[in-house]
Amino acid sequence: ALPLSIHAYLYRQRASSVTPSFLLLGPTGAGKTSLQTLFERGNATPTHTSQSPATVTCALPRDVTAASSKYRSTNDPSAKTERKLHLIDTPGHGKLRHHAFSALTAPALSGLIFVVDSAALSSANGLTEAATYLHDLLLALQKRHTSAKTSKGPKTLNVLVAANKQDLFTALPAQLVRKNLEREITKVRDTRAKGLLDSGVGGDEDEEEREWLGEGGEGAFEFRQMEECGVEVQVVGGNVRAEGDEAPHVQNWWAWVAENM
Ligand code: GDP
Repeated sequence: ALPLSIHAYLYRQRASSVTPSFLLLGPTGAGKTSLQTLFERGNATPTHTSQSPATVTCALPRDVTAASSKYRSTNDPSAKTERKLHLIDTPGHGKLRHHAFSALTAPALSGLIFVVDSAALSSANGLTEAATYLHDLLLALQKRHTSAKTSKGPKTLNVLVAANKQDLFTALPAQLVRKNLEREITKVRDTRAKGLLDSGVGGDEDEEEREWLGEGGEGAFEFRQMEECGVEVQVVGGNVRAEGDEAPHVQNWWAWVAENM
């Protein structure tokens, strides 16, 4: 019933207005629910564990300019109205991820925010978990693009990799988060390809059916390969909560949201 509720919800949204929706994804503990709370209320109170998708409505802070209103004159009355968006939190637990994937087909979706714990990515396990999830997500977006019925294809959907917890001493900086994820996704892809060959699937005729992320060939996976299917991936650092003296820092994520509304 849960995936249905997302669809029903998004469908209603589309029917009534065009409030853009953004999906929050990522491994458990990355900070999705904290981010959702911060975007909604301006502070990240202790969070519940998300078992099912939860949607909140947020307003774009007034000091963040959306791309579409950048060149509007300050006398334009529409520049003063609040810009609203919906933020949909999804469960990070592996067994519940189908909820997140089922929401990808929703027409009202404007972008995906994949939250990672930048400190957890310095451990092999943490990196593998995040990279596997992100690999599967990007593959789903690639399929969504290739299987599009019309030549125009579905609306492009950009991905923000929110390199969260930058306040932590052990956090990898965004550049490294990007590099490590690309390298690990390359491994995941190779392992998947090998798995397919070993099981006898995919070795022969049906080349079109192969599930290979990014451009063909032997090279390393890079996020920019996703541009071929209309997906721009950006890795941007920030922190929702803070240890010690640090304050939440999510300005650059808001800017990305504004650009993609
Ligand atoms: P979710 O499972 O992805 O929804 O993650 P939560 O929002 O529940 O956060 C998991 C834990 O990480 C919580 O204890 C948060 O307080 C903590 N957390 C989230 N964001 C940050 C951050 O930017 N910095 C620090 N230090 N902790 C954070």
